[in-house]
Amino acid sequence: MAVENVLKLAQENNIEWFDFRFVDLSGRAHHISLPASEVDEDTFLNGVAFDGSSIPGFRGIEESDMVMMPDPESVFIDAFTAHPTLNIMCNIFTPDGERYERDPRGIAEKAEEYLQTSGVGTAAFFAPESEFFIFDDVRYQSDVNVSSYSVDSNEAFWNTNRKEDGGNLGFKIRKKGGYVPVAPVDSQQDIRSEMCRLLEEAGLRIERHHHEVATAGQAEINFRFDTLKLTADNLMKYKYIVHNTAQQYGKTATFMPKPLFGDNGSGMHVHQSIFDGDTPLFYEKGAYANLSEMALHYLGGILYHAPALIALTNPSTNSFKRLVPGYEAPVNLVFSKGNRSAAVRIPIASVTPKGCRIEFRTPDSTANPYLAFSAMLMAGLDGIKKKMDPRELGYGPFDKNIYELPEEDKVGIRSVPASLEEALDELEKDFDFLLEGDVFTADFIQNYISFKRAEAKDVAIRVHPHEFSLYYDC
Ligand code: GLU
Ligand code: MG
Ligand code: MG
Repeated sequence: MAVENVLKLAQENNIEWFDFRFVDLSGRAHHISLPASEVDEDTFLNGVAFDGSSIPGFRGIEESDMVMMPDPESVFIDAFTAHPTLNIMCNIFTPDGERYERDPRGIAEKAEEYLQTSGVGTAAFFAPESEFFIFDDVRYQSDVNVSSYSVDSNEAFWNTNRKEDGGNLGFKIRKKGGYVPVAPVDSQQDIRSEMCRLLEEAGLRIERHHHEVATAGQAEINFRFDTLKLTADNLMKYKYIVHNTAQQYGKTATFMPKPLFGDNGSGMHVHQSIFDGDTPLFYEKGAYANLSEMALHYLGGILYHAPALIALTNPSTNSFKRLVPGYEAPVNLVFSKGNRSAAVRIPIASVTPKGCRIEFRTPDSTANPYLAFSAMLMAGLDGIKKKMDPRELGYGPFDKNIYELPEEDKVGIRSVPASLEEALDELEKDFDFLLEGDVFTADFIQNYISFKRAEAKDVAIRVHPHEFSLYYDC
């Protein structure tokens, strides 16, 4: 949308506030609001200043001045503000007008530019399936002593304080028993439908929603694929709308990968394909799962770089509590058609040229989507460049349920890293593929690794509730 059309849209909708947003290293959005009377064409040329030193993972205090440059393509009207507000996603620049090398959205733009100069294709398409839980918000429960709530020991807390556990016992969903039951077992139809309505208003095209496998409250909403940066923008809108709709219903939504021990976690499977103009490049009729050589090389690159890639697609300590056998989350670095225990799956939709794609099932929604999609594209492009054949590299195809294989048949199957620290060790050894075309810089990777190592250490030094049951009476 041209800037003049943004200003027209604002006028037509009596917009009082322009909300300028950017995304930090860990994928959280931040915003500064300007009154509509202060915003004109010049705002789009000069940007909006902010203090980068107060954003974790960005600049030091000695170089704090940063500028948000609004991207008129990304506007949407905020559904949650009492005062009419227009949201605009921004890229981050230094005061000298240089693209800030740690800006995730800038990295996504560079990844798309790199694809276009690579000669492989004109566009990469992404579609994330971002699962989440909707829980009762403790602040709305009169029988709960909120002051006893502690983020550090939340698992036992959630398990004992969710309303479903107290009332409605006849229709309580059992662990792993939540896949698509009708009401009254599924009590969240309306809240998901309302989320979808607001997502459509914000410009996403909704394909479906459903209750997911875990016990009461796990949900998934699917929206239509788009190019890399636009899909990351859509995911930011998705999380904002999911969180805030839940809030309006007196609930709270979380995308953390494994909020409940012993039940399915929440993943963010990412479907991916490359087109040249209108021509899909991942399809070859009659080949294994109708995958072209290019698609095989792309997924070969994903699997080959997966141990390092996972530091960006699964970047939380909680991510690795999801990546364990038995909960439909992949632990094996293999590919397969249909098999949900494989890290890369070729969905049934790949029977048509345009629907043909690969699904990387490892990621979760703690990923910063701009960084994760860019890193996956870079891994795939490296696979194409180096003709990494996943069959020759020992990644399958593997069409059996690997969780149930006898140990001797599992020899040679590689697994995902077991912890955030392990994934960061892998990234430290293998990040050259990310530096191609200056998409990521070495400074970015090193800063990212130390930022995340600090997070992992922060968690590791805390006393865990389960340690009490293991050691208290020693
Ligand atoms: N929730 C599962 C995961 O953690 C995925 C279930 C599904 O296949 O949709 O990846
Ligand atoms: Mg799902
Ligand atoms: Mg899936």
